[in-house]
Amino acid sequence: MRVDYHSHHERCGHAAGSLEDYIKSAIEKGLDHFGISDHMPLIHVNPAKYYPEMAMPYNELPVYVEEAFSLREKYKDQIDIRIGIEGDFIEGYEEDVEKIVQAYPWDYVIGSVHFLGEWDITDFRQVHQWEGRNVDEVYRQYYDAVQKAARSGLYDWIGHFDVIKRFGFVPKEDPAPLEDEALRVIAEEDMAIELNTAGWYSKAEEMYPSHRILQHALRLGIPITTGADSHRPDHVGRDIERAYTILREIGFPGICGFKQRKRTLYRWKETKK
Ligand code: ZN
Ligand code: FE
Ligand code: FE
Ligand code: ZN
Repeated sequence: MRVDYHSHHERCGHAAGSLEDYIKSAIEKGLDHFGISDHMPLIHVNPAKYYPEMAMPYNELPVYVEEAFSLREKYKDQIDIRIGIEGDFIEGYEEDVEKIVQAYPWDYVIGSVHFLGEWDITDFRQVHQWEGRNVDEVYRQYYDAVQKAARSGLYDWIGHFDVIKRFGFVPKEDPAPLEDEALRVIAEEDMAIELNTAGWYSKAEEMYPSHRILQHALRLGIPITTGADSHRPDHVGRDIERAYTILREIGFPGICGFKQRKRTLYRWKETKK
């Protein structure tokens, strides 16, 4: 069983290739499930005045969903496609996110913290915003937002749990207590996390989340899924095997899939080659 539940395509403005190109790549790589999860539109900043190429325009959302459903039908004999969205958590805008969550029959909604206020901490064009900030304080703000995302009830899992490390800014204080507290809330809310393989290609050169966080997540009984966070068709399914080797070693019982917002655990031993 090999699943990749985190992908993008040209609609967001900063990825290459059509949705169909990503599906073809997923088929070529022999994935069992391919999850479509483009970024949700910007809701808390004016897209005309913000950085360009962040996400699809709001009025594109129904077109995205329609295209995804028609491609799912077209390729149904070749691959099991799941249709979701990478939802942002933006403090104070929960109701606007909820509208998007309620409006379509998603298989899943990823809860990702990209924004601390108007700063997208995952955008390379905004790295200068770290200047003059206390890294420990930014980490506290980030994990506070992750906790709130988990408590919001809007999402099925937390995307790239420790993405705050992306550009290599290292806190002075050990972030483990912040991470563990956020994990505790995730466990309490019966949410999952993902092993996002794109972390290996970030400045942090480490998967999202780290080995230590994964071990603690397992202790808390948090289920896991996998995603490559592809922004190019050839990155679909990237390092998924490597991810499974690590997850098995750590002791996770298997991998999760999502359909109509219901989670299913596929145990390693049940999974076919
Ligand atoms: Zn993106
Ligand atoms: Fe993201
Ligand atoms: Fe993503
Ligand atoms: Zn992402």
